Amino acid sequence: MDDQDAISRLKAALGPKGFLEGADAMARYLVDWRGLYRGPALLVARPATTQEVSACMRICSEAGIAVVPQGGNTGLVGGSVPRPEDARCILLSLDRMNTVRRLDALDFTITVEAGCILQNIQRAADEADRFFPLSLGAEGSCQIGGNLSTNAGGIQVLRYGMARDLVLGLEVVLPDGEVWDGLGGLRKDNTGYDLKQLFVGSEGTLGIITAAVLKLFPKPRVIETAFVAVRDPAAAIELLSRMRAGTGDVVTAFELIDRGILDLVFANVPGNADPLAQRHDWYVLTEAFGAEGSSGLRDAVEQVLGRAMEDGLVLDAVLAASGAQRQAFWKIREDMADAQKHEGVPIRHDVAVTVSRVPEFLARAIPACRDALPGARIIAFGHAGDGNIHFNLLPPRGGDKSAFQGEMARMNRVVHDIVVDMGGSISAEHGIGRLRRDELHHYKSPVAIALMRALKATLDPRNLLNPGKIV
Ligand code: FAD
Ligand code: ZN
Repeated sequence: MDDQDAISRLKAALGPKGFLEGADAMARYLVDWRGLYRGPALLVARPATTQEVSACMRICSEAGIAVVPQGGNTGLVGGSVPRPEDARCILLSLDRMNTVRRLDALDFTITVEAGCILQNIQRAADEADRFFPLSLGAEGSCQIGGNLSTNAGGIQVLRYGMARDLVLGLEVVLPDGEVWDGLGGLRKDNTGYDLKQLFVGSEGTLGIITAAVLKLFPKPRVIETAFVAVRDPAAAIELLSRMRAGTGDVVTAFELIDRGILDLVFANVPGNADPLAQRHDWYVLTEAFGAEGSSGLRDAVEQVLGRAMEDGLVLDAVLAASGAQRQAFWKIREDMADAQKHEGVPIRHDVAVTVSRVPEFLARAIPACRDALPGARIIAFGHAGDGNIHFNLLPPRGGDKSAFQGEMARMNRVVHDIVVDMGGSISAEHGIGRLRRDELHHYKSPVAIALMRALKATLDPRNLLNPGKIV
C-alpha cells in the first residue's frame, strides 16, 4: 500500500469530519504550546470513536506510517508533535472523543473518553457532588488522555497523588489496532501485571488511551487558603511539616514561590496584585480541605501560622477571606507560565528531590547557575510539598535571546548533575518527550534503559507510535 492509498483508506474510515489536510488546516496541531517544536504530517486524524482509532492504527501499521497521538497539546517537552524527520506520519488528535461515558456516585468513579478536557471532568464531578482532584494550570485545554499519558502532577498531588494514582482502568488501542478493554473500574484486582500502569506516563509511545475510569472523592466542604511569606526555603519545608501535623494531614497544596516569578506575574499578566504589603524573597501558597463541620480548620491553620511567625519561620501571611480572594491567590500561581513567556524562552528544569532536601537543592543550584551563566535570571517555584521545583533560567534583560538558548544543554547539565547527585529526578511531572530524551539516556541506568527499550520493542516492534520520544 502506498501512502496515497493509505490516506484514502484513512479518510474513508474517518468520514468527512474526521480528518484535516492542507498546511493551514493542520498548522495548529503541528506546533507545540511553547512554539519550540514543529513537524510535518500527511494528515490530521480526528477519530470520534474507539473503533475509528483502531481502524487508523490498523491502516497505519499495514502501511508503515507513524502515528503521533495528541491531546490538548499543552505538553512542555515536545512529545505531542511529530519530529521534522517524520515525513511519513499522521497526527492523531483525540479532541472529538470528549464524552463522559458514566459517573457512578456510589463507586466514586467517572468513566470518560480520552479527549475530555480536564476542567470538564472536574465540573461533571462537581455537579454530582463529587470531586476530581487533578488540577494544573493548563486544565482548561489539556485532556485526560494527555494527563494520563504524561502522568501529570499539578497542585494537589500532596494529598491525592499524580494522574497514575487517580486511574482505576483504561481502554487502549495498541499499535496494531487491537483494543484492550480494561475499564472494569475495580479497586482491587491482582490478576497478573497491572497493564494500565504500563500506559500511564508512556507519552503515547506504547498505545493510544481512548478512555479511562477515574477515582472521585468527596467534595471538600471547607477550604482554607493562605498566602505566606517565609524566611527561606528551609522555613517553608518546616512549615509544611507543621501544617500537616497541625491540620490532621489535610494539606492539599503547598507551592513554593520566589520573588522573581512573582515580579514577572505582576509585570506581565494583568489582573494580579501582591497579597502582602511588603516585599519578601520567598513565599508559600498553601491550601487545606476540610469535611462538613470542620469549622476548626481555620483555627488550626491560624494557630500553625501564628506559632511559625513567633518562631521566625513565617514573616507575614494572609488567609483568604472569600472565594474571590482564594481565586486571586491561585490566579497568581496559574499565571506563572504565561508570565515567563513574555521574557523569552526560558531554560526550564522540572526536577524532584526528597521534600526535606528542597532547600539544599536550591542552595546548590542557584549559585551554580549564577557562576555558570552570569546575568541569567533564576526563577524557582513549584510543588515543594512533593519535592518538585520548576527551576528556570531566563535571559538577562535586553540580552541576546538566541545566544541564551544555545546555553540550554550546558545549563541543563549543571542543574541535572546536582539533582542526580542528590538522588533526585530530572523530570518530575512533565515527562521526557523530545526535550529530555538525551538527558534521560545520560542519567538513567543501562538496566532501566534496556527495560524501557524491551517494552517498546514488544508493544511497538516497528516503532510506529510516537517515534523518537522517550526511547
Ligand atoms: P499533549 O500535550 O497533547 O500530549 C502529551 C503527551 O501525551 C504526548 O507525548 C502525546 O503524544 C501523548 N498523548 C496525548 N494524548 C494521548 C492519548 N490519548 N493516548 C496516548 N498518548 C497521548 N503538567 C503537570 O504535570 N503539572 C502542572 O502543574 C502543569 N502545569 C502546566 C501549566 C501550563 C500553563 C501548561 C501549558 C502546561 C502545564 N503542564 C503541567 C504540562 C501539560 O499540561 C501536561 O503535561 C498535560 O498532562 C498534557 O496534556 P495534553 O492533553 O495537553 O497532552
Ligand atoms: Zn508544575
